Amino acid sequence: MTMPNSSTTYISQLKDSVGQNVTLAGWLHNSRSSGKIQFLIVRDGTGLCQCVAEKGKVPDELFEHLKRLGQESSLTITGTVRKESRSVGGYELAVTDAQIISPAEDYPISPKSHGIDFLLKNRHLHLRSQRQWCIGKIRHTVIDSIRRFFNDNGFTLIDTPIFSAAAGEEEQTLFEVDYFGSPMYLTQTGQLHLEAAAMSFGRVYCFGPTFRAEKSKTRRHLTEFWMVEPEVAFIDLDGLLELAENFVTFIIAQVLQDNKSQLETLGADTAALEKIKPPFYRLTYTEAVDILTGEKTKKFLAYQLEDLKKQKQQLETKIAELEEQQKGQLKQWQQDKIAAELIELNSDLAEVNTRIENNPKHAKLAAEFQWGKDLGGSDETIISQMHDKPVFVTHYPKEAKAFYMKTDRDNEKVALNFDLLAPAGFGEIIGGSVREDDYDLLLDRIKAQGLIAENYDWYLDLRKYGSVPHGGFGLGVERTIAWLTGEKHIRQCIAFPRLMDKIYI
Ligand code: ATP
Ligand code: MN
Repeated sequence: MTMPNSSTTYISQLKDSVGQNVTLAGWLHNSRSSGKIQFLIVRDGTGLCQCVAEKGKVPDELFEHLKRLGQESSLTITGTVRKESRSVGGYELAVTDAQIISPAEDYPISPKSHGIDFLLKNRHLHLRSQRQWCIGKIRHTVIDSIRRFFNDNGFTLIDTPIFSAAAGEEEQTLFEVDYFGSPMYLTQTGQLHLEAAAMSFGRVYCFGPTFRAEKSKTRRHLTEFWMVEPEVAFIDLDGLLELAENFVTFIIAQVLQDNKSQLETLGADTAALEKIKPPFYRLTYTEAVDILTGEKTKKFLAYQLEDLKKQKQQLETKIAELEEQQKGQLKQWQQDKIAAELIELNSDLAEVNTRIENNPKHAKLAAEFQWGKDLGGSDETIISQMHDKPVFVTHYPKEAKAFYMKTDRDNEKVALNFDLLAPAGFGEIIGGSVREDDYDLLLDRIKAQGLIAENYDWYLDLRKYGSVPHGGFGLGVERTIAWLTGEKHIRQCIAFPRLMDKIYI
């Protein structure tokens, strides 16, 4: 296998090489031939570049090789860089030479669209697709800006353990592992340990994989996901909300700055993202319940149903048109294009149908919502759809929430907590709270929730030796990316997703 030498240029650097002869090293993403000219789209990890090979301008033998070269073959390709605004990436290569490093045949993922199950099974290859590449680049920026925000704001990184002896959240979602013959659990949150660290460092954060045995298959749940959790000594609920909105705004600004082109390729709503600036909306849980059970929501959902029915009709018309076109005399690439569009449209139609089917159920759940329950996924979606900026929902009934949340001293029924719901229907991306700092009240909450008090001895100690008001929150990385990119399912927002029903690769 020939190795490209160090004089290769990255596609992302082509703007500095206009008029020069350069060599790219990458993979054949796609190709199309029109008689004497071949258009080879090459990708190299930094971008895409259309390379144009003309018969007569490259050796004949090479021209024939390139013509038959399969998708995802690896190669180096040499030529002169020219600016071409109509071309992907804005630059083109007028090919003078190429070397095939390793030819590929029958790459299983063709430019034709495939079903999601097939793509997940082939995730090791699907990662090379434009969509997965764009999401991966955005994920990189999100994670980088998470670290930067906390590092630049006086937070100390604390790595909390993954093996944990007790539940931090609902016990039903614990993954048990055999730890030298005794049961142990994979961590659901680093929060409890982080509270101990906050009493030493003041402002701390942890960032790592989190595990929850979620027994429901939703588009918002993975069994392994990444969560960042800040924890702050001497902070109240208002302080936490401000921290959270500044944090989320910072992440968005970074992604808009570094990943504009990826967002556009993904079809994300960048105009909506540009508008996200503090202050975010603030609702108490009780206000949220009033909205859900009120007239406004009823009207909103009725209007939404009408709109969905219109969308259904438009999709069906479009599908019928394309199916008609398919019957005509078409070139292979035209057939492929229509087939791909049809898969796309049919999947949109299936989604619209599901939403039409769910609308009355969700309307009923909202209308009959009883104060005291936790907000369900559909309730969050409704509130989120009714807002164009993120919404904080605060002061939930404490019985519906985790044991460590501080009871509001002005209203014993509620906790000093919040969820942050992303707009446009994406739903919860952050959960947080002020922590109970009174020893006796915390012990009562532990017992009331049926937890074994001895497991929390060390945690209670924090309330014995210099207890202070403190709190924090957890932001789910994949949910944040799904919102920013407009992805419907968070499984697309991590390279190798772990789902309840299946681990593919
Ligand atoms: P939900 O009610 O949606 O299951 P939660 O209340 O269990 O969320 P928290 O315990 O508050 O969530 O966790 C903080 C954040 O971690 C959530 O806001 C979300 O962004 C993320 N998160 C929680 N569970 C999952 C999961 N199973 N998959 C992906 N992200 C998750
Ligand atoms: Mn959960």
